[in-house]
Amino acid sequence: MTVPKRDAERSAVLRRTLEQASYDYYVLDRPTMPDREYDTLFRELQDLEREHPGLRTPDSPTMRVGAEPATSFAKHTHLVPMISLSNAFSDDEVAEWDARATKIAGTAVRQSGYSAELKIDGAAVSLTYRDGVLVTGATRGNGAVGEAVTANLRTIREIPLRLRGSEKAHPPLIEIRGEVYFPFDAFERLNDERTKAGEPVFANPRNSAAGSLRQQDPAVTAARPLRFFGYAYAVPGAGALPFETQSELLKTLGSWGIPTAPHHKHCRTLADVNACAHSIETKVRGELNFGIDGIVVKVESIALQAELGDAGREPRWAIARKFAADIAETKLLAIEVNVGRTGKINPYAVLEPVEVGGTTVSRATLHNYQLIKQKDLREGDVVMLKRAGDVIPQVIGPVPEKRDKRHPPPVPKIPTHCPACGTKVRASEKDLFCDNDRCEGRRLEAIVHFASRGAMDIDGLSYARIEQLLDAGLIHDIADLYDLKEADIAALERFAEKSAQSLVEAIEASKKQPLSRLLFGLGIRHVGAEAAALLARNFGKLDAIAKAGVDEIEAVHGIGPTIAAAVHEYFHDERAAKLIERLHAHKLTFAEPARAASGDAFRGLTVVITGTLPTLSRPEAKAMIQDAGGRVTDSVSKATSLLVVGADAGSKLDKARELGVQIIDEAELLRRLGK
Ligand code: NAD
Repeated sequence: MTVPKRDAERSAVLRRTLEQASYDYYVLDRPTMPDREYDTLFRELQDLEREHPGLRTPDSPTMRVGAEPATSFAKHTHLVPMISLSNAFSDDEVAEWDARATKIAGTAVRQSGYSAELKIDGAAVSLTYRDGVLVTGATRGNGAVGEAVTANLRTIREIPLRLRGSEKAHPPLIEIRGEVYFPFDAFERLNDERTKAGEPVFANPRNSAAGSLRQQDPAVTAARPLRFFGYAYAVPGAGALPFETQSELLKTLGSWGIPTAPHHKHCRTLADVNACAHSIETKVRGELNFGIDGIVVKVESIALQAELGDAGREPRWAIARKFAADIAETKLLAIEVNVGRTGKINPYAVLEPVEVGGTTVSRATLHNYQLIKQKDLREGDVVMLKRAGDVIPQVIGPVPEKRDKRHPPPVPKIPTHCPACGTKVRASEKDLFCDNDRCEGRRLEAIVHFASRGAMDIDGLSYARIEQLLDAGLIHDIADLYDLKEADIAALERFAEKSAQSLVEAIEASKKQPLSRLLFGLGIRHVGAEAAALLARNFGKLDAIAKAGVDEIEAVHGIGPTIAAAVHEYFHDERAAKLIERLHAHKLTFAEPARAASGDAFRGLTVVITGTLPTLSRPEAKAMIQDAGGRVTDSVSKATSLLVVGADAGSKLDKARELGVQIIDEAELLRRLGK
């Protein structure tokens, strides 16, 4: 069959484009194309080659893994090639993979079940242990041959130089495969340092891990906090192995002192696999301190894995179920500023809308001008954007190659005056402030905060409506909201009698909100919802807080000196006193309702929640514990009194066990709460 000219030309273009992208990605560790785009072009080439096998050249990117080793490191030939994984972008594609595997190896595949593991977004390496001693550590390279970066891998403290357990416990020669990764917090620090030094930032933690591994000077690698997770092995020939399933393999690696990734799950059905993928993408991913770009689904039985074997660059017994990209490229259209309720001038990026971490992002905070300068961000730049889970979108930095070198955009001007009221700004440390208390921008933000969901939760009082009420001169501060009359509002544009009435009713209803919400809504510096709840619960009445000394406020479990000082200062400010007097006259609730009888069950306890609880959501469980006097924190430490564990619990559970922290499940939590 002749190949249409159009397809032949297109495949040649695709091969060249993917080749260049792979070189930039694997050899230079500096991608010039978003992963999503690479994956789409790769799929297109695969489809063309499937349709016209004559187009498939041996050097096609679809036939190869990674890139040729291009450094001066010695070469290492892997015992068994280190291949890649095929991708599934939907549950249906996982089902198609399962159907293909079942067709080859029969229903035994389904009987064996599947191993679901985090797909670590790092650099693949192979560690050769001879008689239990680490002799070589190598990168994946082109799959068959990698670079021996042993000295660099030795700097990673959690990679054992000698496997634990007796010599008989492990095969005399074994390559342990896994992923070297760069934790997010360290990645951000490294990029900050690189920006300060005028060096280009790493596009993602994976490229920084790969780049760090291929340093000529191991001291440079040692200075970078690389970590490692193992997930596979290779032995020469068909040696006897002390495990029969993927889950046992991971357990065995652990017993040899090789760290393995958290959240591994043995799934009995594909429905379990899909549920696990969903829970990891939506709940777990945002909490991890390292990047994952999906889960890897593997046939659980090692014998079946061998039977299924490989198809070129991909095993038939495993597939990567990819997630929505959490790093994307887009254009920085403009850098704009607004003023917050505390007077802080907030620069933010206006972006060409792009999908990242599963949602479309068109704005991102830029924090302050010092950071803009450090990152060298300019209007018109192509920038990299990161968003994982619930994390606020962050601009990582510009892609320097994509800036017009001959006509670079100008360095952004630092504002000298408040964008809302025109007052000259004051610089304090990294930030700029508008000190004008009557600034309309600050007022707007203060009222928006007061009406927001977490605070007084006034239904229908949106940002635009508050702007409208301020512009019409009907309100100047939060207390004015309670003087609003239906007739005044109804006269405004876009308001009808009905909506004016609903708004007045919603404002009236907010008077019943408890003290904790009012306190948060007042916008006292440093007082977030949690601190407001603690203060309201401990003092019971607004008056008591207003009269308390700094020491008394600080004595509340969970309140530190900064918050205590800010609260004290607020209640000793004359204008705040006047505002509170007016709110009092409007009969707002200045007290916190008494707690139910079971309310003290967690008093004085510091609790951490991990994993997915069977019935309660994380915020629900947190609120219940707080209502019962407990404090909920994010990480397990010696100060933790109790760990509440759900499904797919990971490193927090390990740490709690290590520290001997008491561990309970949801049923016990509810029992202690008397529910
Ligand atoms: P991959 O990263 O998509 O998946 C295979 C790799 O996953 C394995 O080799 C292994 O290193 C790793 N892995 C992580 N956790 C694992 C686990 N638990 N079990 C088994 N393996 C695990 O494939 P790849 O071949 O390394 O790279 C291809 C991908 O790289 C593409 O899909 C693309 O997104 C990206 N890429 C991007 C560009 C670009 O220009 N942006 C260029 C080349 C490649």
